[in-house]
Amino acid sequence: MKRATAVAVSGGGHSMKAALLLKAQRHHVIGIHFICQRKYFLKVPKYTITTLGCKVNQYESEAIARELETSEWHPAQKNEPADLCIVNTCTVTQKASMQSRQAVRQAIRANPNARIVVAGCYAQTAAEEIKKIDGVHDVIGHAQKHKIASIFRSPKPNETLHQISVCSNIRKEHQFRRFSETVYGTRTRPFLKIQDGCDSFCAYCIVPFARGPSRSMSLTDVLENIKQLGAVGYHEVVLTGVHLGNYGLDLDPKTSLNELLSAIDESNLIKRVRLSSIEPLELTDDIIACVAESRRFCRHFHIPLQSGDDQILKKMHRPYSGSYFRDLVFKINKRLPDAAIGVDVLVGFPGETDKAFENTYNLIQDLSVAYLHVFPFSSRAGTAASKLADKIPSDVIKERGQRMRKLGADYRLRFFNGFIGQTLEVLIEETRDKKSGLLKAISSNYIPVLIDASDDYMNHIVQVTVEKLLKNNRPYGTIFSSG
Ligand code: SF4
Repeated sequence: MKRATAVAVSGGGHSMKAALLLKAQRHHVIGIHFICQRKYFLKVPKYTITTLGCKVNQYESEAIARELETSEWHPAQKNEPADLCIVNTCTVTQKASMQSRQAVRQAIRANPNARIVVAGCYAQTAAEEIKKIDGVHDVIGHAQKHKIASIFRSPKPNETLHQISVCSNIRKEHQFRRFSETVYGTRTRPFLKIQDGCDSFCAYCIVPFARGPSRSMSLTDVLENIKQLGAVGYHEVVLTGVHLGNYGLDLDPKTSLNELLSAIDESNLIKRVRLSSIEPLELTDDIIACVAESRRFCRHFHIPLQSGDDQILKKMHRPYSGSYFRDLVFKINKRLPDAAIGVDVLVGFPGETDKAFENTYNLIQDLSVAYLHVFPFSSRAGTAASKLADKIPSDVIKERGQRMRKLGADYRLRFFNGFIGQTLEVLIEETRDKKSGLLKAISSNYIPVLIDASDDYMNHIVQVTVEKLLKNNRPYGTIFSSG
């Protein structure tokens, strides 16, 4: 299950200026607004993109922004009315759908003269509902999302008709739709979507209905994208997908995530590669060995557990047991003792008795992990879980969530404390920490370190000694050496 958080993005630059943009990015306001400029407009037209949801959505928004920019659109200033507003929605939970509707209404209110375009997972699954929102002009599904920039290359600003372009059966979509440009975005550590869709149909998850079957970017294209990112000065890429572990299985000839990682390692195109979430059964011994034996891959695994109770796992259609998960974490701990292991947990699935919840809690208490992402169950229409009878009361779900989050916070603190006095290799981000004004850096094993140093270190990999935890439990370090 993907996290549903509202995230704002801004556009990247043309390839020839991307290296300079890396420096300039830290001056960008990370906001939801973009300015666009078209030669034939009398005034300077503007556009905004609002993004909700997971890394895949964020990547796609950045891709749309980059393609718009190559058509001479530019990011808008905050609070300026726009001519084109794209809302890239999420529907992973009821809350995400509600936030998506709010974002659409907000875009309409703030931009009364704009063309309003709604895309993303909520657009894919609830096109008719969105169409009813007064002020929406276009609803665009996943099969057409990669064409948004070309659709609006010659917009008619006064056009008010509803244009619905949503493939009615996304499960028939078997082609990986890549964007035409390498996506730089504004992150120091850009995302690269290498896989889309999912065939697993976990009982609670709407994603297979929203994004369709699993499909992958070709291995050659993945390497080419990484090459471009490395060539313009990025030091880390985050490989993302809806079901990353299924990478390559749909390609002809078939390949696999492990083969891709070996090819990336051999090609020496970028210094660091981070993997996003991988399902327990797909985090194979080969992948663990590949990460352990190469300095290129970040020592960081994010693994969805969801439940530690075998009966609930079965009801969720999750094909492993609690003990399998425990053994997997032990194996990683043994092979890579310094690795960060993050775990997704879903609380309040229908039928999750007190005993079943305790089984999950106790399993996690046995593990040495770095952090937890805790999600409350949210019933999604059309999923198997939505038809299950024994729903858990919301106050019980809330209480379980709080308990689990407290456990996660304890783990995070324990993980950070374990590195005080140690030296870590970190990549320094392009933006400073808003509260403290310190530089932000991230280690291979996902420890966010604050550093008091000049902007010259931005986008550099340096060795940092972790001195202490600050009052807010953020690790603080001093630069030991750069290079
Ligand atoms: S693996 Fe399960 S939880 Fe993850 S996207 Fe697919 S169906 Fe959803």
